[in-house]
Amino acid sequence: MSLPVKYNVGDVVKTRKGHPCGGDTWEIMRTGVDFRIRCVTCGRVVMLPRPKFEKSVKSLVSPATPASP
Ligand SMILES: [Zn+2]
Repeated sequence: MSLPVKYNVGDVVKTRKGHPCGGDTWEIMRTGVDFRIRCVTCGRVVMLPRPKFEKSVKSLVSPATPASP
C-alpha cells in the first residue's frame, strides 16, 4: 500500500512543465484544497487546485527546512 506524497508548506518541488521565466522549482506556501506555490526563480505566486498541483509535480527537491531568521 502506498500513501500519496504529503506536501508541506516550505517544501520545494520541481514541476514537469517549467515556468515561462525558465525556472522549474517552486516553494509551497500554502496547502489544502488549493495549493499556493511560488516560483523560486522569479518569485511569481500561483494558485492551483490540489489535483492539478499533484499532477504537475515531478519531484520533491527538498523538504521544508526549519524556519530561517
Ligand atoms: Zn518563474
